[in-house]
Amino acid sequence: MPRGKKQPTALVQIQKSPIPPTRQSTIETMGCPLCYVQVIIKRRKGAQSIEGARGSEIHSTVARYSSHCARKQVGMDLDAFEQFSKGAGPQAYKILAGLRDGFVVDYEHLFATELPMALDENMQPTELAPALEGTCTDSGLPACFQGTLDTLYIFRSEAHIQIHDYKSHMKPFEPEDKPQSKEYALFAFQHFPWAAKVTFRLVFVRYKNLTRSVTYTREQVPMLMESLKAARARQEKIHEDYDAGREIEAIPGSLCVYCPMLSDRSCPVAEYNPQMQLTPEERLKFNLWYSAFNRVNNTVLRDHVNGTGKNVILKDYNGKVYVFGPSESESEVLPLFQATADGIAMDKERNPVLPIVSLLLDHAYANPDDTGWMAKITLSSSSMSTPLKAKKRVHLHQAVQDTAEKITKVRVKVSKPLDAIPESEEEDSEEWGEEGEEF
Ligand code: SF4
Repeated sequence: MPRGKKQPTALVQIQKSPIPPTRQSTIETMGCPLCYVQVIIKRRKGAQSIEGARGSEIHSTVARYSSHCARKQVGMDLDAFEQFSKGAGPQAYKILAGLRDGFVVDYEHLFATELPMALDENMQPTELAPALEGTCTDSGLPACFQGTLDTLYIFRSEAHIQIHDYKSHMKPFEPEDKPQSKEYALFAFQHFPWAAKVTFRLVFVRYKNLTRSVTYTREQVPMLMESLKAARARQEKIHEDYDAGREIEAIPGSLCVYCPMLSDRSCPVAEYNPQMQLTPEERLKFNLWYSAFNRVNNTVLRDHVNGTGKNVILKDYNGKVYVFGPSESESEVLPLFQATADGIAMDKERNPVLPIVSLLLDHAYANPDDTGWMAKITLSSSSMSTPLKAKKRVHLHQAVQDTAEKITKVRVKVSKPLDAIPESEEEDSEEWGEEGEEF
């Protein structure tokens, strides 16, 4: 090395984290970038996974049963369903037993179950499963997007594909709200070039005949591609930030219950100190995190009480005792009619007996000056809403709705996730102070 020349600095090898294919679970995990780092990059296991295991058992049973029906060319085979359900755990078995009697397989149109599909970085099919050979060309490039379709039905004459995805969630939701519907629809369009439309149907297996669907047409393929590309770009950005050692943001939400940083309480949002000066946004973050933690915590406590039959008791240093366990309470309801074994009681004139109303009427006749408060007595619409929805009560339903008075209630709450702040909220923000006094 000639004198006076600077010694070249040693090149630092930057270790890049491998970016796995984008799956629907990956996209959901990206809802909190820090959770993504923990679960996908560092491969830490989250809390649960009774739910995950239950879901897998249900998927596997339904897939094997559907294939069996397609092979036998029958829509139902209850004995076989029972046989396939036998390996499932008690929770999954209970759900499957509820599903069994109403579950009909459209064996004529069933193409495959548990069908893996993948697209490369150009959104072209790759890593073709044996069942898909001959339907399209395999690009041979690495997979950038991957998924496993629970059941795929083909309606060739209508150029239509249906994907059924089984969910054991308690609360049904709309498929267009989830990236999975777009990813799976794009998989189908790219693997079956003849398909003009794809329906993605969620089947909520806890409930009889409860499904939610969304249909995409081939004209929407560019939109589906953009949606997936955007997800891929977000995923790459998290890896880039992680590899560069940048701080990764924690965004609390429903995802927290699956996150390892919730179970070991290491989430940075959990480090709440009442003395700290938090911004309103940070307080809202904590609120969301706390709700998720509280749900997990209460489930564990409930399981303990159920399992042991004993309350959880805590005594503080001042001798005060706190108990977690069942607590009985009584509340009063005022029935409008007098119930009988098969309906409601009638008086001698064949009019319904209205015990409370009779008392009120007596009071009104005897005290005509003391009736103002009666105008505020109302019936709760929630106790009538379900029965009134029956087809045979359609006229009554309409008449009741016409009579109902609308009241507006204002309460402080955390909204559901919004894509954007509605314009009106931004415009009205000045008036909030005056209205806020009312809370
Ligand atoms: S606990 Fe919630 S907010 Fe914290 S890292 Fe996990 S998912 Fe994100």
